[in-house]
Amino acid sequence: MSTETYLPFAFFEGKIIPTELAKVSIMTNALQYGNAVFGGIRGYQANNKKNYYIFRIEDHYRRLMSSLKILNQKIPYNLDFLVKTTVGLAEKNLPKSDFYIRPISYAANYEISPDLSKVNFDFAIYMIPLGEYLPVNKGLKLMISNWVRINDNMIPARGKVSGGYINSSLAKGDAARLGFDDALLIGNDGHLTEASSANFFMVRDGYLITSPKYADVLEGVTRRTILQLAHDLGIAAVERMIDRTEVYIADEAFLTGTGAQLAWIAEIDGRVIGNGKIGPISAKIQKLFFNIVRGNEKKYSSWLTPVKV
Ligand code: PMP
Repeated sequence: MSTETYLPFAFFEGKIIPTELAKVSIMTNALQYGNAVFGGIRGYQANNKKNYYIFRIEDHYRRLMSSLKILNQKIPYNLDFLVKTTVGLAEKNLPKSDFYIRPISYAANYEISPDLSKVNFDFAIYMIPLGEYLPVNKGLKLMISNWVRINDNMIPARGKVSGGYINSSLAKGDAARLGFDDALLIGNDGHLTEASSANFFMVRDGYLITSPKYADVLEGVTRRTILQLAHDLGIAAVERMIDRTEVYIADEAFLTGTGAQLAWIAEIDGRVIGNGKIGPISAKIQKLFFNIVRGNEKKYSSWLTPVKV
């Protein structure tokens, strides 16, 4: 997927301006050192093709605030402002399809050292049209990367810190060159963590299993959503460490994320997962998830913020 199109307006340096004018200098500290945190939020078109909903926007911005706190940085905007600005920008951008919102808070100074005590973080938002980031109906072919997942005392994986994404880029780039859709990464302690930009779930003996928050995974908003849906559907779910070989013999497996949505896995390292088709538990959760994000499940409407276009 490459991003050749973008929606016309961005929020940059406190104002809404044309996206093509939202530019930073080559001297920007964040560009040198990855000193930035970001978010990824989806806007979904309702089935009537008229309404749009932003999914769990507050939760995404809470995580952005937590990521900033981990870096010991502050921005002059509160949650309410971030939500209102994003919704206002989406309304001005007049999306014509599902779209993706990328807020980013970055060390904007021309500071030459990687010293986080010397920089100020600015905040910007841009938006792009976005359909599937990974195929959701085809069955993913994954590999286990030999790149080790960053850990909490190196670059915290629980936050969405730009510099940490070198780890994702290496794993994803190598997987793509080898013909895989994505890669799963093992953590420093030898357990499975997550994919390059999505959380991992598997089903064994009727239990839905995902790595715990202390396993060097991003605290995914979709991950939390899926655990809630499993609970509501009466599917037993556990957060526990996962061994590499367990994933080979799982009955079902899938990735979750704002980009990935819920994408089921057909193969890992050449081992077919289950019977190579979407499993019953994955299918049940996937169906409910897509109904929710398009506004067809009243019970979950508090997760949706309407965009009036
Ligand atoms: N892990 C990583 C490394 C990611 O980049 C993402 C995408 N944000 C996820 C998991 C999924 O998180 P979320 O459901 O909040 O999008």
